[in-house]
Amino acid sequence: MSNLEATPEEIICTEEPGGAAIEFLAPREVPLGGPRAMPVRRTLPQRQRSLIGAWCFLDHYGPDLVPETGGMRVPRHPHTGLATVSWLFTGEIAHRDSAGFEATVRPGEVNLMIAGRGISHQEFSTPDTDVLHGAQLWFALPDATRNMPPTFEHYTPEPVRGEGTELRVFLGSLAGASSPVPTYTPPLLGAEAVLRAGARLELDLDPAFEHGILLDTGNLTLDGTPLAVDHLHYLRPGRSTIVLEAGQSPARVLLLGGEPLGEQIVMWWNFVGRTHNEVVAYRTAWQAEIGAEPADPPADGTYPDGTPYPRFGPFPDGYPSPLPAPALPNAQLRARG
Ligand code: MN
Repeated sequence: MSNLEATPEEIICTEEPGGAAIEFLAPREVPLGGPRAMPVRRTLPQRQRSLIGAWCFLDHYGPDLVPETGGMRVPRHPHTGLATVSWLFTGEIAHRDSAGFEATVRPGEVNLMIAGRGISHQEFSTPDTDVLHGAQLWFALPDATRNMPPTFEHYTPEPVRGEGTELRVFLGSLAGASSPVPTYTPPLLGAEAVLRAGARLELDLDPAFEHGILLDTGNLTLDGTPLAVDHLHYLRPGRSTIVLEAGQSPARVLLLGGEPLGEQIVMWWNFVGRTHNEVVAYRTAWQAEIGAEPADPPADGTYPDGTPYPRFGPFPDGYPSPLPAPALPNAQLRARG
């Protein structure tokens, strides 16, 4: 889930010799699921940058001491027009969704939920998880596939090992490794790299991609420039090679990339759409389907955009109450991209 209120953000650019800039996107701390909940560090979207490829959302969390914060406790909530990607370093999360998928999210295994025209799901860290550490990412689906039926994918990438380095490519292709997971988007990259102290990793990139590098732990330079922990580092298209070098301690990064989406999206709460009115309709449907606000179901069992009722699926009884949507802002939601 998310809370996309405008907050102050920081942006710094370093100009390297040769003009290859790294844009530093600072994290802002957001309580997941409301005050007193687990804090997450959100680096995407930012006012200055809504998308990296199709990637539109990045929450980074932990190492979180679950006995102190309660861990991840996100009751049933909806999504549209996007895919959620869960990637853990430590701990486990139990996922259940309205398309009928149940999964345990574990370190080194990617879980991809394609929301398409509508899905709802809940996520709870498992009872025996003491430390939770990882990331949740979303990418926007392009117009051509965003109304597809919801689905779910799971994949455990084989690590690509180098001298003191390990690379796990969970989406797309890098360093000779390819993920078989379909993304229903233009080419996209998602990978984790771990470097031992002093190790060096040279990577050939697709120059048509823009990239984002999240530094999770350690001291690391990118082409000689020190990166900042917990920051997302943006690289414009045109890079064909990068060199990552760890300092005195081991380092871990998430590497994201993709061709610029080339579409304007409207993103609010857990929804991605294309217009203000479309997002309003998603909210109205969710509130009605969970009984939070009255609205008549579509007369012929189908919403005007062709989605069958209920848009956010059936969900079994006996689980924590669904999260109602917040009130819409007074202003029109703006398209960004
Ligand atoms: Mn979610």
